[in-house]
Amino acid sequence: MTSRIAVLGSTGSIGTQSLDVARKCGYRVAALTAGSNIDLIEKQIREFRPKKAALLDKERAAELKIRVADTDTEVLAGADGICACAAETDADTVINAIVGLAGLNPTLATLTAGKNLALANKESLVAGGALVKNAAKAHNAAILPVDSEHSAIFQCLQGSPGNQAVKKIILTASGGPFFGKKREELRHVTVAEALNHPNWSMGAKITVDSATMFNKGLELIEAVRLFDVAPEHVDILVHRESIVHSLVEYADNSVIAQLGVPDMRIPIQYALTYPARYASPVAELDLAALCNLTFYKPDYETFECIHICREAVAEDGLAPAAVNSANEEANLLFRQGKITFLDIPRLIRAAADAAPHKKEFTAEDIFELDALMRAEIHKRL
Ligand code: NDP
Ligand code: MG
Repeated sequence: MTSRIAVLGSTGSIGTQSLDVARKCGYRVAALTAGSNIDLIEKQIREFRPKKAALLDKERAAELKIRVADTDTEVLAGADGICACAAETDADTVINAIVGLAGLNPTLATLTAGKNLALANKESLVAGGALVKNAAKAHNAAILPVDSEHSAIFQCLQGSPGNQAVKKIILTASGGPFFGKKREELRHVTVAEALNHPNWSMGAKITVDSATMFNKGLELIEAVRLFDVAPEHVDILVHRESIVHSLVEYADNSVIAQLGVPDMRIPIQYALTYPARYASPVAELDLAALCNLTFYKPDYETFECIHICREAVAEDGLAPAAVNSANEEANLLFRQGKITFLDIPRLIRAAADAAPHKKEFTAEDIFELDALMRAEIHKRL
């Protein structure tokens, strides 16, 4: 159980909700980091009085240092400053709520320092694969899922040491804003439409990943990594209401599910209080008011990003890192209005075809591959 936390990506959707949990549960905050949002991190520093804080943007970090000179918070700058916030504070649990592959080094820094990692930044586990798992093992550090589906699975696995007799994991998916649409109908969808998620309010990158369902592909890989299951034992089910957060089917065909209103503060809090449970400000689930819960098979033809990730995890090695980086770039270009929605899977596939096939790799290999995948996408614009 946690008493002191560090929040990496504290100004984002998960970061601000993590601080809300810290406020309600009375956790001390040892470190805060963000990309460039100086105004919000300044407010957070004044409220939580962390030992360290860092901004990726070095100029803003210099300005932040001046702004908070009246506090005891040490201000660091750049990617190294963020890793120092993960590793060099007295936090026992680090919440990684950074978006994208930029979270990889902070994930490794947390685990190498032997601290528990409450992981929202799925991209670091997807791309880092064995590197991340081995760092956790070598330093006896736990990875606790924050992603709602994986928190649900983690909760459904309690009481089954070593994941005994688990037959299947069933990940639920909201289906995003384009559920029920066919490929042809997605040709002209706009950025605003893709950003209009039916159930969750999240950062822009993951919201677009939910619209393409690349997010569910990332979560499939995340589940394989977190729970040591074979990819063919992970099923996906579209569940529009986002009430059943995921399920585990056991050898006797008994299926255990975790339910709750869609509010990330439940999985964030469980990652911090595990194995205990505390009261939460999240609303109670009123099943009678909901009446119906619905489940559908995903439309894999329309949402081909799920397949792209399934193929990558089957190949393993650097393949998940390749599709992750290609997606990050394609997702960004779509949000910038430079490519269409249907260009996203097309460009990911084309870039990933140019990726080297390597079973063993280092973090440097992943960042080299990241640059290559982004360049391959730009070549094809
Ligand atoms: P946001 O975009 O809302 O927040 C991202 C945070 O990371 C911000 O604090 C941002 O700082 C910081 N940041 C951005 N780029 C960098 C960088 N290059 N280096 C260091 N810090 C950076 O994202 P979300 O909170 O939505 O998502 C965070 C992670 O959690 C993602 O991996 C996502 O997949 C995962 N997740 C999110 C869920 C959600 O409900 N939002 C649900 C499940 C998982 P600044 O504000 O200064 O830009
Ligand atoms: Mg999720």
